[in-house]
Amino acid sequence: MTTQSITAENRLFIGGDFTEASDGATFETINPATGRPITDVSHATPLDVAEAVAKARAAQKQWESEPLSVRAKVLRRTAELIVSHADQLATLESTDGGKPISDCKAQVLGTAEWFDFFADVSAHLRSDVIPSFPDHLNYTLRQPLGVVGTITPWNYPLPLYGIKLPAALAVGNAVVLKPAEQTPLTALALARLMAEAGLPDGVLSVVPGLGETTGAALVDADVDMVSFTGSTEVGRKIAARAGDRLMKVTLELGGKSPSIVFADADLDIAAAGALFTFCVHQGQLCSAGSRLLVEESIREEFVSRLVTMAEDLRVGDPADEATQLGAVMSQAQMDRIEGFVASGIDQGARPLTGASRKVVEGLDNGLFYTPTIFEDVKVDMEIAQNEIFGPVLSVLPFSSDEEAVEKANDVLYGLAAGIWTNDLRRAHRFSRDVDAGIVYVNTMNALAPWSPYSGWKQSGLGVEGGIEQAESFTKLKTVWINLGDQVPTL
Ligand code: ADP
Repeated sequence: MTTQSITAENRLFIGGDFTEASDGATFETINPATGRPITDVSHATPLDVAEAVAKARAAQKQWESEPLSVRAKVLRRTAELIVSHADQLATLESTDGGKPISDCKAQVLGTAEWFDFFADVSAHLRSDVIPSFPDHLNYTLRQPLGVVGTITPWNYPLPLYGIKLPAALAVGNAVVLKPAEQTPLTALALARLMAEAGLPDGVLSVVPGLGETTGAALVDADVDMVSFTGSTEVGRKIAARAGDRLMKVTLELGGKSPSIVFADADLDIAAAGALFTFCVHQGQLCSAGSRLLVEESIREEFVSRLVTMAEDLRVGDPADEATQLGAVMSQAQMDRIEGFVASGIDQGARPLTGASRKVVEGLDNGLFYTPTIFEDVKVDMEIAQNEIFGPVLSVLPFSSDEEAVEKANDVLYGLAAGIWTNDLRRAHRFSRDVDAGIVYVNTMNALAPWSPYSGWKQSGLGVEGGIEQAESFTKLKTVWINLGDQVPTL
């Protein structure tokens, strides 16, 4: 598909230049499919972060004052460059994160779509003229926040840069991005492409490093907002620090999403969807449908069909186009999955398939896990309540609509929910009653730049996607003008 090459970068990108960390420190990024290091990456110190933020601040006003069409052109050109470098970006992403190459290729193209969509979004942001007192004009303005710090996790690196950067940049902000320490490479590659697309120096900086040091330094730096995606635990810490300064934050956090199958559903579609939503990217996504609620009358047959389908999935080398499940991210992630599976068994749930690591020929040190389906799960078990971030499904039965909604909502998170049914009224009732920011009917995990989404309960604060996200990167100003000769009197 593509021929253009990217020089893989491993240094910080600050103020338009690639540079070593000020203290020369580096950290390793590892290919989870082989267990081998890919490269050493510069580790940004708090000083480097402060410099990136200062350069962003210096560049932001000019960027904001550019005509809309200039900002749009840079973002649209970035989209083109992403597409023309798609193969290489996909290979970098797959090597750094263990994700199947076929998924990565699709996600690179999806990332370009976010840049395209948001390129001229400022033209669609509306201000209001508000009916007011006689001889007065009262209107609102939307202005950029200034400098936005973005902090992202390892599970969807490029797609998350697509979700966060173009919306923030299009409305005139400068951005400092701290990618996840496990997957820093495509952020640096993207920075190079954006510079080539004409983004002025300083408007985007990329500062790889660990969360507790580089990430925390970015939250404490002179930024006007932090846009964070990651765990609920870290999200809470960031919100607390932001609260001290009354700084704006958006948080897109964890999930434990229900996928609910009624007996009246098209069961071929429901089975494929139920499998997809807990296995895609080895279950390492916040909107994974990792709690399957199945109507009792079809439970046994449906679950046994799902077990067969799970056992047929091809788990293996992410570089192989035929692979459906690649490696899990890290040894820490593998320990987490194994810990939850052990707790499920301890608490009395029964694994029908999986519950073990998989050895892939030729990749003996790779981190592979077999899709796992638990039955005899109670709603209060660890595996039914916590985000595992692995291909592990908990099956819970239900016998009525009320019980389905009650069990769907009996969890701390509220990100996504899926329902599989052909009953229109049931679908609408469920969409109304479920505690989740995104509801899917007869589908799961759809996402598009023009469609807003937000996490409820412990799944987040704020909105991503759509015009609403672009608005959230602005601050509102209200202007009052006296058009007449009215004099203020006491
Ligand atoms: P995950 O469990 O998906 O790795 P985390 O919430 O731990 O999610 O990490 C998401 C992002 O947050 C990463 O870029 C990580 O480095 C960063 N991070 C972790 N801890 C902190 C912190 N205390 N302050 C700021 N960023 C952090």
